[in-house]
Amino acid sequence: MAFNIFRKKTDEEPLPLPARVTTDREELFCYGFDASSMQGTPSAVVKPVNTDEVAQVVAFADRKQTPLVPRGAGTGMTGGAVPLKDAIVLSLEGMNRILEIDEKNMIAVVEPGVINGRLQEELEAKGLFYPPDPASMNFCTLGGNVAENAGGPRAIKYGVTRDYVLGLEVVLPDGRALMTGGKTFKNVVGYDLTKLIVGSEGTLCVVTKIILKILPLPGETATLLCTFSKINDAALTVSGITSSRITPRVLEFMDKESVSAVENYGHYGLPADAEALLLIEVDGSRASVAEEADRIAFICASNNGNVSVAGDIYARKRLWEARRAISPALYRIRPTKINEDIVVPRGRVPEMLQALTDISEKHKVKIVNFGHAGDGNIHVNVMTDKNDKDEYERAKNSVKDIFEAALRLEGAISGEHGVGLTKKQYIGMELSDTGIGLMKDIKKAFDPKGIMNPGKMFP
Ligand SMILES: Cc1cc2nc3c(=O)[nH]c(=O)nc-3n(C[C@H](O)[C@H](O)[C@H](O)COP(=O)(O)OP(=O)(O)OC[C@H]3O[C@@H](n4cnc5c(N)ncnc54)[C@H](O)[C@@H]3O)c2cc1C
Repeated sequence: MAFNIFRKKTDEEPLPLPARVTTDREELFCYGFDASSMQGTPSAVVKPVNTDEVAQVVAFADRKQTPLVPRGAGTGMTGGAVPLKDAIVLSLEGMNRILEIDEKNMIAVVEPGVINGRLQEELEAKGLFYPPDPASMNFCTLGGNVAENAGGPRAIKYGVTRDYVLGLEVVLPDGRALMTGGKTFKNVVGYDLTKLIVGSEGTLCVVTKIILKILPLPGETATLLCTFSKINDAALTVSGITSSRITPRVLEFMDKESVSAVENYGHYGLPADAEALLLIEVDGSRASVAEEADRIAFICASNNGNVSVAGDIYARKRLWEARRAISPALYRIRPTKINEDIVVPRGRVPEMLQALTDISEKHKVKIVNFGHAGDGNIHVNVMTDKNDKDEYERAKNSVKDIFEAALRLEGAISGEHGVGLTKKQYIGMELSDTGIGLMKDIKKAFDPKGIMNPGKMFP
C-alpha cells in the first residue's frame, strides 16, 4: 500500500526534511496540475534545495515504495508532473542556481530549477547564447526542459534541448547519485545515458545538475512578418523556404483563428483578417542576414504574401509577445483545448494542414493550428467545452484521426510535448511492441520498484 502522509501511525517513518515538506490542502491542490487538463492531488510536496536532500527523499520513497513525481514549473502539456494516487511531488523549484558560466569552454552548469529565460538573459548579457527557447521559456525550468527534451521556435536551425546537454547529475530511484557525460563536447565511452535520460519525462531518475553547451550570440538578427489571404500560400511558402537552402532560425506559423484570437487578446497590431501568418527570423553576419532576408521576402511575395520587416528591437519584441500569447489567447475561443503537437517531414506541412481541415469538418469541431512550421511541428488545438458532452466527445474522437494523419505522412504523434498521461494510450500507434517492451525493460533497470512517476508514458 502506498505511503500516506496523513496516516499518523506511531511506527510510521516520517518523511525526511520536515522543514521542506508541505501538506497544506491549498498547496497540495496547486501542485496537482500542469498545463494539460489533467489533475491529481499529491499526498505531500517536498522542496529540496540540494542533491543530498533529493537523495534523502528519493531513498525514502524507495523504502516505502511510494510514487514520486519530479516537478519543475508545471508548464508541461501532457500531464507529466500531475501526481497520481498518493504520490509525493518532488518540486525542484528551490534548486535554482546558475552554478557556472564557463566562457573558456563554452559551458554552463545549472541546477534543474533555473528558469530557461533567466539563463538566456544572463548569457545574452555576456554575448553568449543558449538556443532552446520553448514558448514557455519565461516560466519553465531547465530540469523540465531536459525531462521533456523541449524544443522551441529556434529548433529549426539550432536543434532541441538534447543537442545541448553534455552531462547530467541525477539521483537514481534507490537514492544513489550518478554523473553521466561531462564537460567535453565529445564522449563515446559506454552507452550514452545522458541522451537516454533527456526526454525520459521523470520516469527514470531525478535530474539534479545539468551541464549545457553554449554558443556565441549571433551578430545580427532580422525578423520578418508575412501574412497571406490563403492558408495554402503560407504552406507553400514554408516548403519554398525550407527547400531554398536557407536555414532560418525561426519559421513560425499561425492560422487565421490564432491570429485573430491573439489580436483580440492583446492588440499587438497583427492583421486580424489574415488567413495565415508566418513569423520568420534569420541570424548571422550582417551581410548574410541581409541577403537571406531578401531571398525569404522574395519567396513570400512569390506566394502572394504581404511582407514587412520588424524595424527595431521593440517591434521584434512585440511580435514575440504576440506569438507567446497564443496559448492563453485560444481560451477565448472555447474554454477547453485539446492540445496536440504532431510533427511531419517539413515538405509535408501543406498535406497535414489539408488533413486537419478535413478532420475538423468530419468531426464538426473547431481546430486551431499554429507552431513551428519550419520543422514540421504543428500545434493542433481542438477547441471545445468539457461541459458540452456531445462536442467534447467529437473533439476527443478527432485526436486519433489527427495522429493517424501525421503517421500516414511519415511523422510522429509528438514533436516536443512528450507522452505523459495524455498520449500514453496512443503510443502503440507509433511504436512497435518490441520497441515498447525494450523501453519498459530500460525503465525496470533504472527503477525496479516502479516509484519514478508511475502511470506515465506507457499504457
Ligand atoms: C504556453 C506554453 C508554451 C509552451 N511552448 C513550448 C515549446 O515551444 N516547446 C516545448 O518543447 N514545450 C513547450 N511547452 C511545454 C512545457 O513548457 C515544456 O514541456 C517544459 O519543458 C516543461 O518544463 P517544466 O519546468 O514546466 O516541467 P514540468 O511540467 O514541471 O514537468 C514536465 C516533466 O518533466 C519531469 N521533470 C521536471 N523536472 C524534472 C527533474 N529535475 N528531473 C526529472 N524529471 C523532471 C516531470 O516529472 C514531468 O514529467 C509550452 C507550455 C506552455 C504552457
